[in-house]
Amino acid sequence: MGRKLLLEHINVPGINTLAVYKEKGGYRAVEKALKTMSPDDVVEEVKKSGLRGRGGAGFPTGMKWSFLAKPEGVPRYLVCNGDESEPGTFKDRFLMTHIPHALIEGMIVSSYALGAKTSYIYVRGEMMPQIRILEKAIEEAKAAGYLGKNILGSGYDLELYVQPGGGAYICGEETALLESLEGKRGNPRIKPPFPAIAGLYGCPTVVNNVESIAATVPIINDGGEEYAKIGIGRSTGTKLISASGNINKPGVYEIELGLSVEDFIYSDEYCGGIANGKKLKAVVAGGSSVPILPANLIINLVNGDKRLMSYESLSEGGFATGTMLGSGGFIVMDEDQCVVRNTWNFSRFYNHESCGQCSPCREGTGWMEKILRKIESGHGTSADIDLLVDVSKQIEGNTICPLGDAAAWPVASAVRHFRDEFEWHIKEPKLSQERNYGLAHY
Ligand code: NAD
Ligand code: SF4
Repeated sequence: MGRKLLLEHINVPGINTLAVYKEKGGYRAVEKALKTMSPDDVVEEVKKSGLRGRGGAGFPTGMKWSFLAKPEGVPRYLVCNGDESEPGTFKDRFLMTHIPHALIEGMIVSSYALGAKTSYIYVRGEMMPQIRILEKAIEEAKAAGYLGKNILGSGYDLELYVQPGGGAYICGEETALLESLEGKRGNPRIKPPFPAIAGLYGCPTVVNNVESIAATVPIINDGGEEYAKIGIGRSTGTKLISASGNINKPGVYEIELGLSVEDFIYSDEYCGGIANGKKLKAVVAGGSSVPILPANLIINLVNGDKRLMSYESLSEGGFATGTMLGSGGFIVMDEDQCVVRNTWNFSRFYNHESCGQCSPCREGTGWMEKILRKIESGHGTSADIDLLVDVSKQIEGNTICPLGDAAAWPVASAVRHFRDEFEWHIKEPKLSQERNYGLAHY
């Protein structure tokens, strides 16, 4: 059994309440940080832990915190990104639903470390039940003296607010999120400047994912060095994985980083193997914004070594053979899945969610979606495959925010690894049309 730092008590009845959360050791990190540590000590522990951003980019959290500008007399903010919208990713929602105080406690510890006196949890607008759960947990924490003025007599004040999101995928991009939090349309800003220098209302701001913030609790409780003992290489600690698709046991799992992908898919502790005794065809390992990998490359690296659930192993080989851990949205496809159809589905999503600010993304996602629909529905030509790859290349690296790359990578990798399947749709237009269950609908 892998160690559980975030989900250890997830099945304890009432763990969503402050009383039971405390009974299980909750709010020890707040007591320890505010009573015995300076803000810099807390930053130091997080640096030692090696924690990397759990939203998708994997940027070292302690380093991000140390970039925060601290000009005299200017407020600083901590904003938690709970706008979880990446396809196949539902681990933050799970955490907020079942153990909201882990996030509240992490917010207090992290805000203290950063010197933020006002902090926000920006939650995806569609997640109204989670918004209510967090508001209730904040009320409980405030009543117990963990929020508000002079917390635990430490002299530190913190107000914590929950903000419902704008209802668009792009509002999860950190600068779009800040625009939305300021009451504007959620359009991404050009970086730099990074939020650490000019974020919310132009003030220094750290934006961290829900899971990253919750992970600061075990880091402070046990120490950064203990946390760093779990995992492999620069992929330290545990990670929540949202597993979905054709597996026997879809759900949210906490794994120790470094577990082999094979064990994750086939062991009973996690996915329990491919459903209905089918064969594994492909995996998208980090939400939909990463390349798709065929079975042989997801189980083993090109040199034959086991591929691991880690930032390094899932990136190794570059994008030509690699994928990314990303947000931990692990989508498994069995032998009956049509890669063209699934890729079209992803493209449709990105086309819908593009904010439209930059032409390569605004126009390119639309073209990719149209070409994929044409091929999948049996009306494509072989020139369409090359056109698709060309459009994806025109988008990659040419946009303001990562949505453009996220739209391009799955398409380019699908053609690279499954070209024969694209060609089948072109060679067999009739069969393709017959199989086309209701695509014309969209
Ligand atoms: P990024 O690499 O641009 O930045 C990562 C973080 O590090 C940001 O907070 C950024 O401000 C900070 N940073 C980087 N360099 C810095 C510097 N020099 N100074 C100060 N701060 C610096 O990536 P991103 O745009 O934040 O995130 C992209 C990722 O988001 C993708 O990997 C994708 O998988 C993921 N994503 C997740 C979801 C979800 O629902 N969880 C949704 C969409 C995308
Ligand atoms: Fe908007 Fe797409 Fe440009 Fe991002 S890449 S700013 S979503 S148009």
